[in-house]
Amino acid sequence: MSAGACLWFTGLSGSGKTTTAEALLPMLEQRGRTVTMLDGDVVRTHLSRGLGFSREDRDENVRRVGYVAAEIVRHGGLVVCALVSPYRATRDEVRAMVDAAGGPGSFIEIHVDTPLEEVIARDVKGLYAAGTKQMTGLSDPYEPPLTPELTLETVERTVAQNAQQVLDYLVGRGLL
Ligand code: ADP
Repeated sequence: MSAGACLWFTGLSGSGKTTTAEALLPMLEQRGRTVTMLDGDVVRTHLSRGLGFSREDRDENVRRVGYVAAEIVRHGGLVVCALVSPYRATRDEVRAMVDAAGGPGSFIEIHVDTPLEEVIARDVKGLYAAGTKQMTGLSDPYEPPLTPELTLETVERTVAQNAQQVLDYLVGRGLL
């Protein structure tokens, strides 16, 4: 059985987490892996329906996704999570949970490091212009990872280049 792994994309809203993850999925499937995608926006319509954007609710959302991810990894599966997940301590809790389930190194933190000015200019979901309350990067904090396994840059690098970078990392780690 292949080793399990959790690819955890974190970054500001509009940074490119979903776009990069969706480019990566077919590349993983081409290599014979099935993949579960847990996308923040989708998860909030079922697993975390009703949760808001207070620190408590954001943390609860991240922990629920982390719990599911850990179960997938425990059974040797590959899971791709794309959540703003702004709080470092909560991401680290999930890291510990996933690594406990799948073994050290199972949790792969990928920081989609797009500058705030750029995500505001993109404003994919119209959230920045709408003056959304509790907006990460504006009124709410974003705590970047200190030692992520990977950092992706989306202004100078294309989606395809970034997806390839993640794939190369996984191959280098012997996970594919
Ligand atoms: P998130 O999931 O982080 O909220 P999305 O993936 O939904 O962000 O949106 C990112 C937006 O930025 C998309 O409209 C995408 O087309 C655009 N974009 C431009 N350049 C890049 C890049 N290099 N990588 C990822 N997204 C990019």
